[in-house]
Amino acid sequence: MTNSSKDKTIRTTETLIEQGLCDPTQKEKLNQIAEQFSIAITPEISTTIHHPGIAKQFIPAVEEAHIAPNELTDPIGDEPHQKIKGVIHRYTDRCLLLPVSVCPVYCRFCFRREKIGSKQPALSPEELQNAYAYIQNHPEIWEVILTGGDPLILKPKSLDEILKNLTAIPHVDVIRIHTRVPVVDPSRINASLLKVLKIKKPVYIVLHANHPEEFTEAAKKACASLIDHGIPMLSQTVLLKDINDNVDTLSQLMRCFVRNRIKPYYLHHPDLAKGTQHFRIPIRKGQALMKALKKKTSGLCHPQYVLDIPGGYGKIPLQHCYIQEKNADLYSIEDLDGQLHRYEE
Ligand SMILES: *Cc1c(COP(=O)(O)O)cnc(C)c1O
Ligand code: SF4
Repeated sequence: MTNSSKDKTIRTTETLIEQGLCDPTQKEKLNQIAEQFSIAITPEISTTIHHPGIAKQFIPAVEEAHIAPNELTDPIGDEPHQKIKGVIHRYTDRCLLLPVSVCPVYCRFCFRREKIGSKQPALSPEELQNAYAYIQNHPEIWEVILTGGDPLILKPKSLDEILKNLTAIPHVDVIRIHTRVPVVDPSRINASLLKVLKIKKPVYIVLHANHPEEFTEAAKKACASLIDHGIPMLSQTVLLKDINDNVDTLSQLMRCFVRNRIKPYYLHHPDLAKGTQHFRIPIRKGQALMKALKKKTSGLCHPQYVLDIPGGYGKIPLQHCYIQEKNADLYSIEDLDGQLHRYEE
């Protein structure tokens, strides 16, 4: 690694080639890919970029040019539930608010990759006002989830304004932030951001991380400062081929979360985003991994394995079913060794 990667975020194939991270003979193809799907690798991620579990997440690959027939522009069906620009309201008691469409890093498997990127504009002040009005006019909204894009990329002052506006809505009890910042750009978790996050309503942070190598010393510190500040943290992970699709890496990752006081929440089956086939594994393999994880690790280390049904039908659990109904009062229940037991009611 050259020193320059320490100074700033890598954003071009030229830099990747200079640093020996991309094959120069693929330059043209990769440039075409980068036109459509932005590249960003922060200095913090650069420190571990040579690890295969990190490299594949962030370095563009020629495979992205291959669009599989089942892949979709809007893989999880956000559009049918976009009520107004920047607000996705699919479940009754909670909605997403997407104030920004940029991220500190761009994950090559991103499910919203057609909507986010370095050239995408944030919501305008007027659009934000309209979003608050929508939430205000829907008293059933109990929780607002800030996502995007990565909301923690916002300047503390802009985030402060959003949080103040949401806090002012009486029926919004909980604010959740989905982010990758604490691990990929931990220096952003500074005193001014922490101050802004201290509001009268509970703020939960859901950290997206996929590999134990993402937990650098600075990343651990950033998570600790959020939690010490009174913010509970949960995790979300995407199950990714050749990155975390084996029980050792997955259990190490889950233990890493728990050791850092972050409760594993979701393990997402990868979505059908365009050009991401090389990241997907069969659901049955994911189920087997969850079974192995359950057998191997503490209950604190178990996320829920979920699939976002294409078309906008929501997230559903994909776990292996341990119980079978035989007749009205009789069940057959499988233990963790695969043995069946009768259970009579
Ligand atoms: C994932 C998602 C949520 C959050 O779902 P939880 O199960 O509460 O974590 C909310 N709205 C939309 C549109 C989502 O995609
Ligand atoms: S941080 Fe989230 S929104 Fe941003 S590129 Fe990665 S998966 Fe997509």
